[in-house]
This record gives sequence, structure tokens and C-alpha cells, in this order.
Amino acid sequence: MFLKNRYESEELRVLKALNSRMDLLEKEKQYYSNLQKGFDGEVMFDGYLQRIVIQSLILNDLLLEQNHSHFQIDSLMISQSLTYLFEVKNFEGEYYFDGDTFKKINGTEVKNPLLQLERNLSLLRQLFNYIGFKISIEPYLVFVNPDFTLYNAPLNRRIILPTNLNRFIHQLNNNKSALNNQHSRLSEQLLSSHLTKSPFTKVPKYEYSQLRKGLFCHSCGTVLEEYSGRVFMCNNCSVKENTKSALIRSVKEFNLLYPLEKLSTNIVYEWCGGVFPKKTIRQVMKENFIISGYGQWSYYE
Ligand SMILES: [Zn+2]
Repeated sequence: MFLKNRYESEELRVLKALNSRMDLLEKEKQYYSNLQKGFDGEVMFDGYLQRIVIQSLILNDLLLEQNHSHFQIDSLMISQSLTYLFEVKNFEGEYYFDGDTFKKINGTEVKNPLLQLERNLSLLRQLFNYIGFKISIEPYLVFVNPDFTLYNAPLNRRIILPTNLNRFIHQLNNNKSALNNQHSRLSEQLLSSHLTKSPFTKVPKYEYSQLRKGLFCHSCGTVLEEYSGRVFMCNNCSVKENTKSALIRSVKEFNLLYPLEKLSTNIVYEWCGGVFPKKTIRQVMKENFIISGYGQWSYYE
């Protein structure tokens, strides 16, 4: 049973919005693309965990702190006698382990995910001790991308390769598991320890005047210009979106980037690059947000 679902982080959503509206530096683009890829991989793994049929509690995307160290858990599965700790990687291409280092086939060194898993395991154990739970933790490093190849794979049963994933889930389902109050208490404790604000975010500085105004495709980020009056169509990826949802999405995006700013019809009009008539903006905003103030001073909440 999934107790905590996964959503795109605020950082990822901000970077997505900024990527359409300003020219990110190459390293910022890379960071954004890695975040997106990581998220997509985790969602892919969620698809596998949905096939777990034994009694279990699954907590996704936990941000915890122990001993002044933050750590992020991709997926945690609590079963009767074991807690499974999953570190999910969506790497693509050919990699190998070289002693304690992890490298791409061309020799470029990449942060060793096994060390990251070790660190998470150690901090999670300390946290379990601290909150008084004595349940063993089994750590796994999961590579989900079917286009990932690992050469020279150490004989480490903690590493799950894409070709082992089905079998692994099958094995998990062969275990016996009956949960009791203790397990629910553990999951509640973890959920209440979850931090919502990440200390690691790397969002570039942005100013309203510098951001491109307009409506951008939610799928590929291209500016949306083709408008039939009811539906926008992306010239790049052919995705269609109706007026109302495109407008609400843009307003939410403004709110995400400028949570403290008041929203008026004029601001929304400008933010969307004038693609929506003000009459439409007023109507959609009235249906979906609360209006405060009067006349030209009215704003939406
Ligand atoms: Zn598109």
C-alpha cells in the first residue's frame, strides 16, 4: 500500500517554468535535466512497486534529518520483518565499477551510488534507533532504465539491474508479511519526520522583467502560438491543451515563482503574453480563485 505518493518537487517545477522563460546556463540545464530524469526513473520504479501484493507500507520520496545530516530516500517499503530501502537511478548508457569509484564507459567518474546508499542506510538506522524501532533494513540500489548496462558488476545482491527487476519484485512477493500496529507507528513517525523544504535546492536567481512572457507547452516547453479559440496546439510536440487548463496552469506557475505577489487580471494578461483575452481571464479566474478588493484594485487569491 502506498502511504506517501511522489510528486515533482518544487525545485523541479520552478526549473521547468524557468527553462521556458529564460536562458538557463549549460550547467543549470544539465542539473534540471538530471532532476527530471531522476524523477522519471522513480516514477518508473513506482510502477514496479505497485505490483507488490504482500502486506507492506510504501513511503516515497522522504526527506529526513538525523544528526544534522539531511538524507533523501527514493522509496521505502516496510514489511513484517524487513524494511527495504531503495535508491533508484535512471542512468542510461554503459557504466562500470572501478574499485570504489563508479565510471561511465569513457572513464568519466560519476558519484558512486553505492556510497550514497551506504550513507542513507547508516542515517536511517540511526533514525530508527533514535525513534526506538528495531526492524532490520535491507538496502538496494535499483537501476531502472532498460538502456543501462553495467560492466564488471560486482557480485553484489544489493544491485538490481533493469533485467532483474521483474524477478526481484516476484521474490519480494514470495515473502510472508503480516503487519501490525508497530509498523503503522513506524510509518507515522517517518511521515511526521518528513521535511517539506529541501536545503539542497539550486534554483538560479530570476527577475520578473527578464522572464519571457507567454504560454508554454507543458510537455516540451515550446511557446504555444496556435490557438483555435478553445484549444492550443504545440507546433513542436503536437500536444493539445484547452484554454481553461492552460490559463490555470500559467497562473499556478506565476504563483510558484512569485508566491507573495498579488494576482490581477492585468498581471495574468501580461504573464501569458497577451494570448488570452482579458474577458476570458476574468471569467476563468472568477471560477477558480477567490476575488478580493474591488474594481481596478481587485486581485485573486
Ligand atoms: Zn510541446
